[in-house]
Amino acid sequence: MSKLVCVDAGHRGTDSGAVGNGIKEKDITLKVAKRVGELLKKWGFRVIYTRIADNYVNLEERCRIANNNNADLFVSVHINSSDNVQANGTETLCYSKNRLAELIQKNLMLKLKLKDRGVKERKDLAVLNGTKMTAVLCELRFLSNKKEAEFIKKDSFLGLSAEAIVMGICDYFGIAFKSQNKIGEKTGDIMKKTIDVVVNGKKDFTEGYFTDGKNLFTADFIRRLGFDVGYNEKTKQVIINSKL
Ligand SMILES: [Zn+2]
Repeated sequence: MSKLVCVDAGHRGTDSGAVGNGIKEKDITLKVAKRVGELLKKWGFRVIYTRIADNYVNLEERCRIANNNNADLFVSVHINSSDNVQANGTETLCYSKNRLAELIQKNLMLKLKLKDRGVKERKDLAVLNGTKMTAVLCELRFLSNKKEAEFIKKDSFLGLSAEAIVMGICDYFGIAFKSQNKIGEKTGDIMKKTIDVVVNGKKDFTEGYFTDGKNLFTADFIRRLGFDVGYNEKTKQVIINSKL
């Protein structure tokens, strides 16, 4: 039977979670959670939600829903907030460090391209210590930060966040995440994946594709290595120049 993922939209009802810059955390978490669920189903997962509307569900109930249904994973979606309006970035919380948290954080970095606040252990969060299965809580970005709040309001933020979380889950189970857009005219299957690389002895990773037994990198990665990458429309050539 396919894996069951419990998707938890943080906060509800009278508990709006963080509020600021015209955003209520509970509204965004629900939208992202629904997208995560829809995408997971597309990749063959079974999905249960702790809430699908603005209804009341306390923290113990959230754990009970996941535990009683024997979910394989529990993923909670949150938006961060801080008194320090400069605070920014993305972090993934877990009871004790696990591969799922690392992989989701990694994919959130690739998709949202924000400051990497890393994977953090939190023993005090009910949904992390009350769930029996591997559980993570994603703090996608800060609504208290004006710049980040602007992006939160965009539809692309919902889509990118959901895709990153699902890519992390697919990576965790060793399932290749198939890109929804076919590239060029290739007829073979093209799988979107996270490629582990070592650059000058330093571990790194990048978003890429796998096809015909080969890893394909994106131009963004080559840029990150210090090259200018462009395309000449007339000659139909990709132009790469070292910035050094
Ligand atoms: Zn929250």
